[in-house]
Amino acid sequence: MNLRNFFIGLSENKIMNALAKKYGLKLGAQSVVAGTNVEEMIESVKQLNAKGISCTIDSLGEFVSEKESAIQAKNEILEVIEAIHTHHVDAHISLKPTQLGQDIDKQFCLENLREIVRKADQYGIFVNFDMEDYNHLHSAFQLIDRLSQDYTNIGTVIQSYFYEAQDYIEKYKDYRLRLVKGAYKESEDVAYQDKEEIDQNLISLIEYHLKHGKFTSIATHDHRIINHVKNFTAKYNIPKEKFEFQMLYGFRNDLQLRLTNEGYNFCTYVPFGTDWYGYFMRRLAERPQNIQLVAKQVFNK
Ligand code: FAD
Repeated sequence: MNLRNFFIGLSENKIMNALAKKYGLKLGAQSVVAGTNVEEMIESVKQLNAKGISCTIDSLGEFVSEKESAIQAKNEILEVIEAIHTHHVDAHISLKPTQLGQDIDKQFCLENLREIVRKADQYGIFVNFDMEDYNHLHSAFQLIDRLSQDYTNIGTVIQSYFYEAQDYIEKYKDYRLRLVKGAYKESEDVAYQDKEEIDQNLISLIEYHLKHGKFTSIATHDHRIINHVKNFTAKYNIPKEKFEFQMLYGFRNDLQLRLTNEGYNFCTYVPFGTDWYGYFMRRLAERPQNIQLVAKQVFNK
C-alpha cells in the first residue's frame, strides 16, 4: 500500500474520526484547521481579510449517516452565515452534501441545503458545493440542478481526475466554478491515475472556463499551474475580475500573500470545527511532506 492510500484509508476510519472529535485539534491539525468554534474561525477570517484575502468557510463534517448529525451540521452552517453577516467579513460558504444527509435521504438533504442557500441568498452570500467521491458525484449535481431552479448564489467544483470532467465543465459553464485535481481515491474505471494526465486535464479545464465560463476559482498549491494561469490570462487579456486563486488554510502562506500582493484575487479555504480528522488525513495523503507540519506542531510543544 502506498502512502496516499494509507492516509486515505485512515481518513475513512470511523473510530479514529470519533476519537478525534472528542479530543479536539491534535496531531498538528491546528496549523491547517482554523479552530474548533465560530469565534476562533471568525478571528482567522478577519486576519486574512486584513491582508486582502477573501475566505470560503467550511464547517467541517462529511459522510453523516444519522439525521440528527445532518441537522446539527445544517444549524452550524446557518450560524456561520449569520456570523459572516454580523461581522461583515469578506467570506462565503463551502459545504459538502454528504454532511447534510445525501446518504440518508435525498429529499431531506435537499431541504437542508435549501434552508442554507435561502438564508445565504438573503444576505447576498455565495454557497459553494464541494465535490466528494465518485459515488456521490451524480446525485450531488442533481441536488445543484434542483436548487438552481430557485437560486443563483450557488456554484460547485469540477475535479480534473474524472474522465467526465470536460462534460461537466461544459454543462456548468454558466456557474461560478472551483477547479481542482481531486482529493479522493478513485478507480481507473472513472478517473485518471497518472499525475501528468490529471494536471494536463486541470489546465485544459481552467483554460476552457476562463474563456467560456463564469467566474473561475483555480484551487491548487501547484506553482506550475499557477504560473501557467498567470501567463494564459495575460496572453488572452482575461481580466483579473474573472478569476481567483484558492488555497487551503495554512498551506503555502507565503505564496498566498505574494499572489494577493501581485493584485490577483485570492481566497483561502478556511476549515474549522471538531470534525477535522478526515479532512486532515486527506491533506497528508495528497502530500506526505505535509507530515512536516505535524512534526513541527508536535515537537514545538
Ligand atoms: P499537488 O498535486 O498536491 O502538488 C503539486 C506540486 O505543487 C507539488 O509537487 C509541489 O511542487 C507543489 N506543492 C503542493 N503543495 C505544496 C506545499 N504545501 N508546499 C510547497 N509546494 C507544494 N478536492 C476535491 O476532491 N473536492 C473539493 O471540493 C476540493 N476543494 C478544494 C478547495 C481548495 C481551495 C483546494 C486548494 C483544494 C481542494 N481540493 C478539493 C483538493 C484538490 O483536489 C487536491 O487534492 C489538492 O489541492 C492537492 O493538489 P494540488 O493541486 O494543490 O497540488
